Amino acid sequence: MPSAEEWGLALRRSHLAAAVDRITEPWSNAIIRAAFLGARQFEMFQLALGIPRQTLSLGLSSLVGFGLLRREPYQQLPARDEYRLTSLGKDLYSNVLASWLWDRRWGAPHPLMPDRLVHLGCDHDCKPLLVCTQCARPLSLPTMQPVLLPSVSLVKPRTERNRRWRSPGSAQGTELRRDLLAVIDDRWSLLLIATVTLGLGRYEQFLRALEISSAVLAQRLQRLCALKLLTRQPDPNDARRAVYHLAPAGRALFPYLLTLSAWGKTQATEPDTLSWMHKGCAQATLGRVACHHCRETLLPQEVLRPTPPSRPALTG
Ligand SMILES: [Zn+2]
Ligand SMILES: [Zn+2]
Repeated sequence: MPSAEEWGLALRRSHLAAAVDRITEPWSNAIIRAAFLGARQFEMFQLALGIPRQTLSLGLSSLVGFGLLRREPYQQLPARDEYRLTSLGKDLYSNVLASWLWDRRWGAPHPLMPDRLVHLGCDHDCKPLLVCTQCARPLSLPTMQPVLLPSVSLVKPRTERNRRWRSPGSAQGTELRRDLLAVIDDRWSLLLIATVTLGLGRYEQFLRALEISSAVLAQRLQRLCALKLLTRQPDPNDARRAVYHLAPAGRALFPYLLTLSAWGKTQATEPDTLSWMHKGCAQATLGRVACHHCRETLLPQEVLRPTPPSRPALTG
């Protein structure tokens, strides 16, 4: 069995971690969702998100900087730009569907998320479903085995980005509403959940795997337990210590993590350090998000979002 350090090093150098770095700026996920729902102009994003202009402006700029959105002039006098998803941004569609699915089942559904989706491919109401790219059967964490790829021990550690990560919960809505955005906009929360999916569960293992400070780790663990994404139980071998497990809502984030890994892979220049084997067919897969009815891959142009009359439609 690989050690906590080996798993941690592999995770921190994985395509997943590279993807996490790009979409964990404050409000990134909400802005991307709004863009998929048709928001383009600043005012439309603001109407959809209801956040301060300065905050939105920073969020949009960071997504432009990471190449997920591009600015395009739409008006001369006064000169105004709108924001469009780049092809890199559009590639996040499966991931957006995975977050929608989680929110519908476990979260406080965000007002921006559609109530239902219709798949034009089969003309049925559809629920996104993560399926194996090899055998097309549904994937969930218990059916998957993480695999450490040999590249990891051969590569010299690269200097990791030294960024000051904002602490979650400083924005509005700090009461523990089970808001997915509070988790997926936070790099450490996502990496901690990913660490637990790899089979680690003890405080010391998290410290070694993530090279995280004790204070930050304690704060994130407390928060993830309060959000009922993790559970804390006494260690059967040492009652003074605790073991953390994924609660059902935490396990249900697995499709979100896999679709994010797959997206990270599309931009990677180096081989991945982690992979996932589907126990059902013994093949490596990151899955694809399919229509639960016909099992075809869901593409943005083939999915309709009927808008309930009570809600203003975002058109662009
Ligand atoms: Zn399979
Ligand atoms: Zn379908």
